[in-house]
Amino acid sequence: MSEIKTVAAPDGYGGSGFFATSLDKVIGLARGNSLWPLPFATSCCGIEFMATMGAHYDISRFGSERPSFSPRQADLLMVMGTIAKKMAPVVKQVYLQMAEPRWVIAVGACASSGGVFDTYSVLQGIDRVIPVDVYVPGCPPRPEQILDGLMQVQELAKNESLRRRESDQYKALLQSYNIE
Ligand code: SF4
Repeated sequence: MSEIKTVAAPDGYGGSGFFATSLDKVIGLARGNSLWPLPFATSCCGIEFMATMGAHYDISRFGSERPSFSPRQADLLMVMGTIAKKMAPVVKQVYLQMAEPRWVIAVGACASSGGVFDTYSVLQGIDRVIPVDVYVPGCPPRPEQILDGLMQVQELAKNESLRRRESDQYKALLQSYNIE
C-alpha cells in the first residue's frame, strides 16, 4: 500500500492565499501613507502637535497633513493633554464615531498615564476608556517623538491584515472596553 504524504503548498500560495496577502500589502501601504489624524488636544502637548504640523517638522511628509475635526473623516485619534474624568466619556464618544479601521496614539505623559496629575479628577491614562495602539512618552514629547509615534502607527497600518478587525481577538479587545 502506498504511503500518503502531506505536501506543503509552495511559498506564497499557502495560508491566506497569494492574492489576499498581496491585496493586504497594497491596501496597508495606502492606509499607512494617508492617515488622517484627529487631534484631541486639551492642553500643553497640543502645542507640540502644532509644531509637528508646521513647516519645520512637516507632518505632510508622512501623508498626514490633513487634520480632521470630524471623527467620521479621521482614522487616527491623537489624544494630547490632561484628560479630566468628566472628559473621558467624550473621548470614548469620539472614538466610537470613527469608522474602522482606526488607530489611537496617546501623546505625552498625561494622555498615557495621567502624568503628574495623580489626582481624583484626572483620568490616569486614556487606555482606561479606549484601546491605545501607541504611547508617546514625554512631558511634553518633542515633535520628533510625535512623528516617531506616527511612524509606528504607519507600520501597524501597513502590516495589518484586512481580516484583523473581524477577528475574535479584536472583538474581545473592544468588548473589554464595553464597545460592540
Ligand atoms: Fe502638559 Fe506635560 Fe501633560 Fe503634556 S504631559 S499635557 S506637557 S503636563
